[in-house]
Amino acid sequence: MSVARERIERLFELADEVHDENPERAKRYIERAREIATSNRIRLPAHLKRRFCDSCGAYLVPGKNARVRLRSEDGHVVVRCEECGATERYGYGDR
Ligand SMILES: [Zn+2]
Repeated sequence: MSVARERIERLFELADEVHDENPERAKRYIERAREIATSNRIRLPAHLKRRFCDSCGAYLVPGKNARVRLRSEDGHVVVRCEECGATERYGYGDR
């Protein structure tokens, strides 16, 4: 794994550690991780992409600030961000 990828993974770990007490700080970790991805021209892995809201950048925690619904009829997962109301769809296969 590249250094950039490692830093991104680490930033998501940090976001996970602090989001409960400090959601704004978690958001900044996510922003930083996205900047690193952009400047290194790497795509965020799908398992990380679905952990934050594309619209407002919030770190998403199902049951806390995100609602996750499975739509078995079309094979998608729908994640709704309770912070800004945006919804995103993911295929089951994205991991
Ligand atoms: Zn949002």
